[in-house]
Amino acid sequence: MPTREGPTKGYAMANITIEQFEKEALAFLESNSERRPVEKAFVWGEGSDNFYREKDRAQEAANAEEAKIWRQKKFDAGFGWITGPESFGGRALTPAYDRLYNQLEATFRVPDQSAFAISLGMVTPTILDHGSPTARDLYVRKLWRGEMIASQLFSEPGAGSDLASLTTKAVKDGDEWVITGQKVWTTGAHYSDIGEIMTRTDWDLPKHKGLTAFIINFKDPNVEVRPLKQMTGGASFNEIFFNEVRVKDDHRLGDVNNGWNVALTTLMNERASIGGSNAGDNNLITRVIAMVKHYGLETDPLIRSELANIVMNYRIANMNAQRTTAKAKAGQLPGPEGSIGKMVLVNNQARLVKFLSHILGPKLIADSGEWGTYAWANFVLGTPGLRIAGGSDEVMRNIVGERVLGLPKDMGIDSRSPFKDIKVS
Ligand SMILES: Cc1cc2nc3c(=O)[nH]c(=O)nc-3n(C[C@H](O)[C@H](O)[C@H](O)COP(=O)(O)OP(=O)(O)OC[C@H]3O[C@@H](n4cnc5c(N)ncnc54)[C@H](O)[C@@H]3O)c2cc1C
Repeated sequence: MPTREGPTKGYAMANITIEQFEKEALAFLESNSERRPVEKAFVWGEGSDNFYREKDRAQEAANAEEAKIWRQKKFDAGFGWITGPESFGGRALTPAYDRLYNQLEATFRVPDQSAFAISLGMVTPTILDHGSPTARDLYVRKLWRGEMIASQLFSEPGAGSDLASLTTKAVKDGDEWVITGQKVWTTGAHYSDIGEIMTRTDWDLPKHKGLTAFIINFKDPNVEVRPLKQMTGGASFNEIFFNEVRVKDDHRLGDVNNGWNVALTTLMNERASIGGSNAGDNNLITRVIAMVKHYGLETDPLIRSELANIVMNYRIANMNAQRTTAKAKAGQLPGPEGSIGKMVLVNNQARLVKFLSHILGPKLIADSGEWGTYAWANFVLGTPGLRIAGGSDEVMRNIVGERVLGLPKDMGIDSRSPFKDIKVS
């Protein structure tokens, strides 16, 4: 069974009982934060209807700064990486301690931690698995302590689903590499410090075989970050230009030309984390049910049936997410169940969007001033992106078809010819 170092391997014999840990965690939270007031039951029409408002770049950057400060505090108090190895500042405790801390923290007012989703969910595990000792020492602790945030630099204008078609090149020069090219759709680069970049290092090898991954520094003057605006009104993506950026060889991830395996570690973690996010969010379901009742539709048999299907699929996505998390925490590498989870979750969300459109009609796209109607617009406009991020629905189906059902491989990908002989669109 494959295992990896980090949060998953070699938990120490706990030198603290779970009861002592709980006391310690509560003492930390009470002296550094305040308890959330008990939430009143959701009542349609009361309070703010700001369900899913998009943040602008300045707000995103400010939130990331607040999140960093909180993460540093909790890391220093021993709650930043509860399951992580002691050599990087973790406590090597079992996931039960981690779950308990998260449950406790959820009852306190703490800054939103979503700025760390890619950084800690995808890039840091990759550095831990594939980084040189120097890179691990330089970054892993700082990333978990929230001193730094990392982005994922894979997609290019001509390489998304078929990532192995990428053409950003890295050329060896002494003990450095020189990187030139363009990346796109880089989430959070504007508040990130470093990035995991995938490059082509050998054009004579087949497309998946000539790739190498590196860690780059966003503060390098030869890295240019430009915002991209999305239809939700936010601009959380970027296009990034690399103009002969120099990177030391000890910032290479994995072996030269073995970047595809490095990419797989990141992508498996990405799918698992998207599939696990928001799966069966009770607030979301509560709001939808309240809306249905507000419009007096709760006795309509078709509405009831569709609503039941949506709630059921969120529950299934939630169970799948728990399975994925349990597997990761038990030290096993994420597998195709991450792709299944992602597919179930985003297909259900697309189903919910149709349902919302059916109930709200034009109120969804024109702000009529009626409470809780136009409020769904950003949720609806953000859903197609979720169907693409981390691998589109079609690509997820290919993965499940090939790796779970054992169907023949996708014919479209030339994995034998030297990359230089393949026409790149
Ligand atoms: C919200 C969001 C966040 C993102 N964040 C990042 C990030 O931080 N870093 C990063 O590197 N990238 C990021 N991306 C980019 C993302 O990984 C790509 O958009 C995705 O891989 C699809 O690539 P593409 O956009 O080039 O579409 P294409 O690959 O050009 O696909 C176009 C269409 O063709 C279909 N298609 C392609 N190949 C096949 C096939 N073999 N079989 C069947 N259908 C196929 C696709 O499903 C899609 O419908 C993000 C994207 C989104 C939407």
